[in-house]
Amino acid sequence: MKHLSVLGSTGSVGENTLKIVRIHPDEFCVDALAVKKNVSRLYEQAVEFRPKMVCVYDGLCDRSWFTKFKKLGTRVVTGDEGLERVSTLSSVRQVICAMAGAAGLKPIFAAVRARKTVAVANKEPLVMAGKLLLEEAAKRKVAVLPIDSEHSALWQCLESQDPHAVKKLILTSSGGPFRRVKGSLAGISPKQALNHPKWKMGPKITIDSATLMNKGLEVIEAVNLFHIEAKKIEVVIHPEAIIHALVEFIDGSHIAHLGVTDMRIPIQYAMSYPKRLANHLPPLDLAKLQALHFEKPDMKRFPCLRLGYEASRIGGTMPSVLNAANEIAVEAFLGGKIGFLDIPKIIERTMMRHCLVRKPGLADILDADLWARQTASEF
Ligand code: MG
Repeated sequence: MKHLSVLGSTGSVGENTLKIVRIHPDEFCVDALAVKKNVSRLYEQAVEFRPKMVCVYDGLCDRSWFTKFKKLGTRVVTGDEGLERVSTLSSVRQVICAMAGAAGLKPIFAAVRARKTVAVANKEPLVMAGKLLLEEAAKRKVAVLPIDSEHSALWQCLESQDPHAVKKLILTSSGGPFRRVKGSLAGISPKQALNHPKWKMGPKITIDSATLMNKGLEVIEAVNLFHIEAKKIEVVIHPEAIIHALVEFIDGSHIAHLGVTDMRIPIQYAMSYPKRLANHLPPLDLAKLQALHFEKPDMKRFPCLRLGYEASRIGGTMPSVLNAANEIAVEAFLGGKIGFLDIPKIIERTMMRHCLVRKPGLADILDADLWARQTASEF
């Protein structure tokens, strides 16, 4: 029985994680849950899964919740300290990190230091501090497992392969909702951008998919996870989103990972690894699909992807700056304060102003994050 802590349990990955626990009660049990502020959904989850501890990051305004959770035998903690406690709870073996944005960074480090296996769904911490995190994990001999579908695919394609035989990693992208839109993207509304053709995800990552920043961040994520240079990572648009990634080897062989477009596959693999478990998902019907399509991404039309490559090439604190400026720009776009095409402009301007730290520690990374948030907000 694997004891889990699920950070971000009311988000899309969190809910899917609990669906997997529900169909495999003999494999997994939930010891802790953490949310930003959705207490009522957290309570429903606690009634079903009976965790020992829950964290409400933003705190509890209504004190009566404490009594309700207490009746279930569940302890409530709050804030940064609470988040650290649910990430390091002694009975927990694996922490599923699925909090949106950079907020997941500190609890992931705490979990690794407490020698928990961490499965990381939100790419921001891996973009900001992936190198440091993997060094820390190697020191303590704990595994950092990717949940992001492309990286789960790469991880599976690379398993038991000689790293020296890898020539290139290929990430696929569905191309987002505006791949076929002709003319200017200037007037795109948040509602249009939130309508993703293939994946059902939270608002931040859905906008990132529309600007292709999601793929830019994934390039950096892959650099950090698989110790490979950005120039050896290629992005290809693949609208059916059936092939999630490929690895090209020096002998010309390519190994690809295919599956139906459902996050429960990569989530479950990170949970059950090294085992594979059955699930209730519809099978992949290749004959019904008939054809798979591929095209080159348009970096001029979607400059966020180019910025992702650039930040990765520059390295140091720049990926942090890219990530933080993007979070601020996406928030402003969703709030109707800026247009769709202002997103890459704000990110690029923030990157240009940044004084780079080449070999940053965690404190430098957090400083760069804060600085970039302030600077991007001014823009
Ligand atoms: Mg992905």
